[in-house]
Amino acid sequence: RFLSLEGGEGAGKSTQIRALAAALRARGIAVVETREPGGSAGAEAIRQLLLTGEADRWSVRAEALLFAAARADHVEKTIRPALLRGAWVLSDRFLDSSRAYQSGAGGLNDGDILALHRFGSEGLLPDRTLVLTLPEAEAQARAHARDGGAGDRIGGRDRAFHNAVARAFAGHAAAEPARVRLIDASGAAEDVTARLMDAIADLLP
Ligand code: C5P
Repeated sequence: RFLSLEGGEGAGKSTQIRALAAALRARGIAVVETREPGGSAGAEAIRQLLLTGEADRWSVRAEALLFAAARADHVEKTIRPALLRGAWVLSDRFLDSSRAYQSGAGGLNDGDILALHRFGSEGLLPDRTLVLTLPEAEAQARAHARDGGAGDRIGGRDRAFHNAVARAFAGHAAAEPARVRLIDASGAAEDVTARLMDAIADLLP
């Protein structure tokens, strides 16, 4: 099975992906944890291009192409081989981030992002996409506690941008309820992990 975890800054994605992987392993499932942008040698090199340098280094179209290129390599080199071996793949971000960041907030056409994905990754979709959601005030407080308010690692993004990202994820959940689930990320980490496990209960062996 292929699961992706999504969510805005400060939602606790990294913590939850580790906890979810541990919970699955405790059930005897082989799990490959991976992340985007990155997850293969080529994609990690593209990650460096995306997350370092000038804040406004890339135009939004170039950014979308780089994310799609990174994902294509990640899918071919890491995700598909793991799925073929019968492992579960847990990816920290996947296609829905491109749709939310480069289309929902960045203004590109959602269909164009999907077309890039069809070409780059043969349209591979997760069996389930879990979107960690937080009320805006809590997301802001957590992001501030983490990085002193330095904010998004891709520069100059404001609250309006992050609200557009959150709206886009909610739109994906409404359009594809079988695949995309919004998960309340507030409260204790163990409670959030339990909500994630509930949301994949039907996929478990
Ligand atoms: O929070 P995380 O470590 O996953 O963040 C990676 C960075 O890449 C974030 O700044 C996120 O906003 C950004 N991103 C993006 N477009 C994507 C995926 C991630 O702008 N498609």
